[in-house]
Order: sequence, then structure tokens, then C-alpha cells
Amino acid sequence: MRYNYCPKCGNKLTLKPAGDDGLVPYCEKCSKFWFDSFGSCVIIMVINELEEVAMLRQQYMSSEYKNFVSGYITVGETAEQAAFREVQEELGIALDDLEYSGTWWFAEEELLMHGYIGRATKKDFNLSKEVDSADWIPLAELTEHMYPDSPGNAQYGTYRVYMERKL
Ligand SMILES: [Zn+2]
Repeated sequence: MRYNYCPKCGNKLTLKPAGDDGLVPYCEKCSKFWFDSFGSCVIIMVINELEEVAMLRQQYMSSEYKNFVSGYITVGETAEQAAFREVQEELGIALDDLEYSGTWWFAEEELLMHGYIGRATKKDFNLSKEVDSADWIPLAELTEHMYPDSPGNAQYGTYRVYMERKL
């Protein structure tokens, strides 16, 4: 998202050269550049000791495909803290371990997705109201339920990283 007005004082921004970044919106009052902003989210492939993956059905996202746990990183939080928190909130289970899988740019929503593989011990979920249902799906059946592979698809990307590391 490109700023036209200063988010701090409401002043109309002007374009000012900012070194290698070229012309960047600038507030004369606050003497501050406002670089384009975007959302930052975590997405976690939660896998248990039986190689089953937690897949969520969330009607507002898709009726056809299932989702990994995901959510926005909040102000003041690290991506790792957000990952542990989102799994706890959405599934009601605690992760034993967290492993980074990379980042993906989700262009349609202007989101930077931070991917993780989260290890958990198999137990029943205690679901958030945001989640319609969730299941432990065997790894071998996972791709049948996933969104098709594409460059910005952090779900598929994280799955691929898991499979490569497993070998
Ligand atoms: Zn300002």
C-alpha cells in the first residue's frame, strides 16, 4: 500500500528522492519518509508424531480447500511468537518445536507470508470460533486437500520444504 497522507499527522505527502529507493512519499512536517507498507503473516504446517498434518476448514477462505494455521503478526511480536500464538488460538494445542521454511509474497493480498513447520503431539483440537472444523490428515493425502501450487502459495511452498528436508 502506498501512502498519500502522513499516517501520523495527516499532512499531504510529497515525493522526495530517497537514495537508491528513488522517489518516496515524504512528510515535510514530520521529516519522515513513508515507504510502501504491506501485511506480514505467519502460516504453519502443524505436523504430529504420526506424520499427520492439522488442516482447517474455514468457510470464509474456501469451501474446496483446507488451510494450514495462519494469521497476522501483531505489532511488537516476532514471527515465531505469532506462530506459537496462532496455533494455540486456532487449534488449542501447544507446539513442541518450530522450524522456519521461508517467505512467500502473496500478491493478491499484498502480504508477506512467513512459513513454518510446527511439531506437535497428537491430541484433540480445542478450536477457535474462526475455524469451522479441523482434522489430522495423513501426509500422503495432504496434496489432495491443498491449494494448487503457485509461486505465491506459502502452503504448498512450506509443504515442499518439509518434503525436501525429510529426504
Ligand atoms: Zn506527518
